[in-house]
Amino acid sequence: TDAAVIPALVIGTGYGGSVAALRLAQAGVDVHMVEMGMAWDTPGADGKIFANTTTPDQRSFWLRTKTKQPLSNFLGFPIDKAIPRYTGVLDAEEFAGITVYQGRGVGGGSLVNGGMAVTPKREYFGGVLPTVNPDEMYNTYYPRANAELGASLIRSAWFESTEAYQYARVGRKHAQRSNFPYVFVPTVYDWNYMEREAAGTVPKSALVGEILYGNNYGKKSLQKTYLAKVRATGRVTISPLHRVVSVTPASGGGYTVFIEQLNTNGDPIATKQITAAKVFFAAGSVGTSKLLVKLKATGALPNLNGEVGKGWGDNGNVMCGRANHMWDPTGKLQSSIPTLGIDNWAAGGAFAEVAPLPTGIETYASFYLSITRTPNRAQFSWNAAAGKVDLNWQTAWKEVSINAAKSIFDKINAKEGTIYRTDLFGVYKIWGDHLTYHPLGGAILNKATDNYGRLHGYPGLYVIDGSLIPGSTVVNPFVTITALAERNIEKIIATDL
Ligand code: FAD
Repeated sequence: TDAAVIPALVIGTGYGGSVAALRLAQAGVDVHMVEMGMAWDTPGADGKIFANTTTPDQRSFWLRTKTKQPLSNFLGFPIDKAIPRYTGVLDAEEFAGITVYQGRGVGGGSLVNGGMAVTPKREYFGGVLPTVNPDEMYNTYYPRANAELGASLIRSAWFESTEAYQYARVGRKHAQRSNFPYVFVPTVYDWNYMEREAAGTVPKSALVGEILYGNNYGKKSLQKTYLAKVRATGRVTISPLHRVVSVTPASGGGYTVFIEQLNTNGDPIATKQITAAKVFFAAGSVGTSKLLVKLKATGALPNLNGEVGKGWGDNGNVMCGRANHMWDPTGKLQSSIPTLGIDNWAAGGAFAEVAPLPTGIETYASFYLSITRTPNRAQFSWNAAAGKVDLNWQTAWKEVSINAAKSIFDKINAKEGTIYRTDLFGVYKIWGDHLTYHPLGGAILNKATDNYGRLHGYPGLYVIDGSLIPGSTVVNPFVTITALAERNIEKIIATDL
């Protein structure tokens, strides 16, 4: 027990947490970041920090004894395999009706994600964050977020010529032939590095299919952007393998934060207590929602309002594959970083990213992750009997998303004379409707918090991650999460310090 009160404690080291820590430190505030995952700064026995997608091992999954790959089958055969239980980088967290994939470790989701850095079209922003001024977002905070994250577009001449984006060119051709608008999306991958991978002059990451279980070289994860700057301030300490389990008002002011130190088996090996003047919840949509719902229900933070736990959505994620003709091969070599999207949002409520299937063999498959418009929102609640937080999502709610995705792919299949793949998500199953990569909501801005993320009922407690966003960002979410965090922390630093 430490009697000293620290000025600011940040729970989680993903996008929201990294923005908060950097701006607080730059304003002269000492910050302590607590992260339940590993540091991911030390190579394993194979000389690499992260495992390859095709050969998952203990590093790949958070506390599982068998992999749970998003594509569970290939050519009808189950592909999941036994692995040692370990505090690995990708969490496939299971709730009753949905598996929610999340990153675990210093850098949060930036360690595992596809790096697509997409800013929603301005005309849709009012539907994403209705209480936020679009002018300030599009003039100041989106540009700031994109610059700090290092988002940029692929070099056009290289896109058109490289074998590694044959799959995306086929995806574009099919979109064009069915008259769908397509867009190149910026990514946070270092494109010059990828070109050097193709030339064979540097160790490969995107071009050996690294995705989902971490990227060893070219992706600019938060460790290379915000968190590098965080470290350079000298004001921030980061504690990996430490999980926050409770936050409650301290008798002398501020908040007592209860923390468990974990070993790599996921077992608590020590408990610690820190008192902090301000606490920032940045544990991600699921992590922050679970903490707040539990703390309200169990009496640690009873004055949180009734909006806590509500408004959770899956960003309408649904996956599918199409079987192409022999004259449309998608390539043996596929870059793991998607860079093309099919935009049918206005007409059909779907934005589909043309995704890789980096198997190393020619599959003649086109693979897509669609982000769709859906009204369905779920709620987290405290299950006292089981001592855990439940989510009342229903798999059947994905029907809306499947129909939206069909607005694109039924038309393309009809035009091309092709069919859906039925072997990727089980046996004779077309739609990957059991999962999301994009959890959003659970502590909605201007509902559970004020319009800048200050939790109602507790001065000095803030939410600053994807849980502020009501279930959808229309496109991939991390640029919006980062930009909103930039906006909120600027206000908080100006008025609350
Ligand atoms: P996170 O990044 O999830 O960070 C939360 C952190 O808090 C985690 O490190 C977690 O371990 C930690 N934590 C949780 N609970 C606790 C606790 N109790 N104590 C201590 N620490 C805790 N988005 C895009 O925009 N583009 C993409 O291409 C893209 N691809 C994706 C691909 C995959 C496979 C996945 C899983 C996600 C993808 N995303 C993508 C989504 C994106 O990564 C997330 O939206 C983003 O990371 C959320 O940011 P956040 O700050 O809300 O939380």
